[in-house]
Amino acid sequence: MTNKRKVFFLALEAASPDLLARGMNEGWLPNLAALRERSSHGAIRSLRGVGANALWPSIYTGVDPSRHGRFYHSQLQDNGYHTGDASQFGVTRNTIWEEASRAGRRVAVLDLPKAPASVELNGIQVLDWSTHYSYAAEFRTVPAALAKQLPGTYGEPEECPCLDRRYLTPAPPAAAEIIDQLERTIIATQNHLVGQLRTQSWDFCMASLGALHCAGHQLWHLHDPSHPWFRQVEQAQGDPLLQVYRTIDHACGAIIDELPEDTAVVILAGPGMGPNYVRVDLLDEILLRLEGGGASAAKGMNRALKRLWRLSPQSWRQRLSGLAHAMDGRLQASDRSRRRFFSVQTNDNVGGIRINLQGREPDGLVASDALDETCDELIARIRSLHVVGSGESLVRDIFRTNTVYAGQYLAQLPDILIEWNQPGVITAITSAHTGLIRQDRLPDLSGTHNDRLWCLIHLPGEQAGELAADAGALDIAPTLAALCGLDELDLPGQPLVPLS
Ligand SMILES: [Zn+2]
Ligand SMILES: [Zn+2]
Repeated sequence: MTNKRKVFFLALEAASPDLLARGMNEGWLPNLAALRERSSHGAIRSLRGVGANALWPSIYTGVDPSRHGRFYHSQLQDNGYHTGDASQFGVTRNTIWEEASRAGRRVAVLDLPKAPASVELNGIQVLDWSTHYSYAAEFRTVPAALAKQLPGTYGEPEECPCLDRRYLTPAPPAAAEIIDQLERTIIATQNHLVGQLRTQSWDFCMASLGALHCAGHQLWHLHDPSHPWFRQVEQAQGDPLLQVYRTIDHACGAIIDELPEDTAVVILAGPGMGPNYVRVDLLDEILLRLEGGGASAAKGMNRALKRLWRLSPQSWRQRLSGLAHAMDGRLQASDRSRRRFFSVQTNDNVGGIRINLQGREPDGLVASDALDETCDELIARIRSLHVVGSGESLVRDIFRTNTVYAGQYLAQLPDILIEWNQPGVITAITSAHTGLIRQDRLPDLSGTHNDRLWCLIHLPGEQAGELAADAGALDIAPTLAALCGLDELDLPGQPLVPLS
């Protein structure tokens, strides 16, 4: 090895950069604050219109979703109308740990969110041991034999609380259970990471603490007094969400203590969390109005199934969820083939619109020479929507995907991408073209992602400073490559630290 220094990357998945800054400044995140003292750090630009599911693979590969092919965990199949599971293992570009492994570095890749599985590595990879939305069935390792040893050494991790709590309005006892469960998960993850750091031989380790993801989705209303559910629940002492941040800080301290003195450390926090006020089905409702069509059969069925799910005992839910997905998928596909444009599922804080295009979709209704006009009109009409009461615009960003992204998988992405603007509760929206559209229920999860990212780079013995003001998500992979001493990779981003 030419570069003797070990490199450690830690994802603080879905941690809010604002809450981290507050905790470090106020002294209740002491371990992160101490490391920040000795590090360069700053905000990092995310990718426009892209949710967490596409962002993480972009960070690992150094290229945007139009170049690596993964947009969401469920995406349109073969330019048709069906949405099918897009395996996170189907990312088509090499990840940074695969590049490091090929260059002879010994790697340990531990529980990263939305991480593609490597076929073979000079080292180990643990997938979905304790990540958000991980089902026990998705847990796997490289090499495969490691999966048999892990539970014996570190215990069986619990499934994330988000799985059972979908579509349920939170009640105080549930919040207490969620906090207990997340704290147990953080301790289990900490023990796992510390154990691997001690027992594996590694040059480059990438690891993640994922509990702030679940905490943000599930507990936001217990933290944010402006959220309508804040008053509905009896306030526990203190702020349960910040309690989880404190536990994460403690775990960070234990993990950092385990690293050899001269280890280069990169921490990436985000995409951030904030209140969730736009329901995922609102976009399709807007598009149906703009198309002048009636109620969607898929939507009616979807609502009925969610109601049934809420009323069902827990033991039924797993089976019901599989059935609902299958029925919903079939209805959605038949709905979509009869429409000029439809919404594509993505993360809650963003939206995607697909045009039913002749020559691309099997039953295309929009001629290719009408595509530009259709997109421009949709963008203008959606931009004119505003929230009844506050008068705020419903969108903070909306654009044609091909004006920003240009890779070979562009055709698999939605044609229009949207970032929602959600500073306050949305009960109705209106515009001249849609009329009034009511949103009767708040989204099922009180917290959702935003586009905020924060990065810290600690290089022992080197002066700390600010990161470049234009630092972006695609700069992380080149930064890690430079720190690992890899030959320059053909990537669009730039290392955030000087090559040495
Ligand atoms: Zn999420
Ligand atoms: Zn979760």
